[in-house]
Amino acid sequence: MNAAVPPRDRLGRPLHDLRLSVIDACNFRCGYCMPADRVPEDYGTDASQRLSFDEIDTLVRAFVRLGMRKLRLTGGEPLLRKRLPELVRRLAVIPGLDDIALTTNGMLLASQAQALHDAGLRRITVSLDALDPDIFAEMSGRRGQVGTVLAGIDAAMAAGFARLKINAVVQRGLNEDQVLPLVERFRGTGHVVRFIEFMDVGDSNDWRQDRMVPSSVLRDRIAARWPLHPLQADYRGEVAERYGFDDGGGEVGFVSSVSTPFCGDCHRARVSADGRLFTCLFAGEGADLRSVLAHGEDALVAHVAQLWAARGDRYSELRGSPEVRDRRRVEMYLIGG
Ligand code: SAM
Ligand code: SF4
Ligand code: SF4
Repeated sequence: MNAAVPPRDRLGRPLHDLRLSVIDACNFRCGYCMPADRVPEDYGTDASQRLSFDEIDTLVRAFVRLGMRKLRLTGGEPLLRKRLPELVRRLAVIPGLDDIALTTNGMLLASQAQALHDAGLRRITVSLDALDPDIFAEMSGRRGQVGTVLAGIDAAMAAGFARLKINAVVQRGLNEDQVLPLVERFRGTGHVVRFIEFMDVGDSNDWRQDRMVPSSVLRDRIAARWPLHPLQADYRGEVAERYGFDDGGGEVGFVSSVSTPFCGDCHRARVSADGRLFTCLFAGEGADLRSVLAHGEDALVAHVAQLWAARGDRYSELRGSPEVRDRRRVEMYLIGG
């Protein structure tokens, strides 16, 4: 495989985005991701399993040579990774990498936002499923406080992150009534709330289709209160459908991978904290990159190019079909969304 030519997979899709998990531990136990009754308290705390900053640096440089331009740091909870700003500082200077973003539950954001901004991070997504303190606490597995997350959002703004994305996963009967309050709270602030359909990731969240609220239902509900118009995607492969408020109050987004699969435009690879490549959010097994990393950047470029060229994933388009129905699926907290 000629690594100078960015690879395309079997469905013609380039490798444009990378989600890199920097840690698989988390300080929350959200039921849709890491249910407390199934994931032990000390899960993911063995630091020796994680890629080192040197390994991550080499890995990201190799992915840039394969065409990757957008990197998102995730987890588990990425702000639990020690010296994260130092990692960001190293990655921010890699030539060819256009964009570094971070997804966090926000609990530790207030104390780290400034250091992350100083290190060169410019985009943060905060997951926030509810404004009601009890609903929020319940959804975090009784580990999180909504006030702390909101303080983290304010601190991020003060540190220079002008426009945050706020992600909310909506589950029927749990936080559906939080949708309008979330929109109301962030309309007109410059932040963009995005509603994510509850997905059947992993094998432990007891996913049922009837617990998922389709984006179209939420969009109609929001539009009845604040009229909306569709906006153009910012770029090809953008996963969220964007809508603007007619009154100029900003925008809102919907990620609808259950009701409206977008596999045809899926340009995203995922790497777990221990260095396994997953070519789909719903993949069963990852391919170990760590042993190849030991042979350096060129070896990794050649190896990943081959793996990407063999990729044929399109789980969401096949959801429910015999081909994928009984397949094992990697847990979300290992690959970070
Ligand atoms: N801990 C960080 C956080 O929560 O933002 C980063 C990792 S978390 C796995 C990344 C995103 O995945 C979060 O926005 C979370 O809401 C989302 N997520 C987890 N499980 C999900 C599910 N079953 N369906 C839809 N989104 C999910
Ligand atoms: Fe932790 Fe994020 Fe998963 Fe919640 S969604 S359990 S915060 S990794
Ligand atoms: Fe991409 Fe897999 Fe999701 Fe399809 S199901 S959009 S291939 S991650």
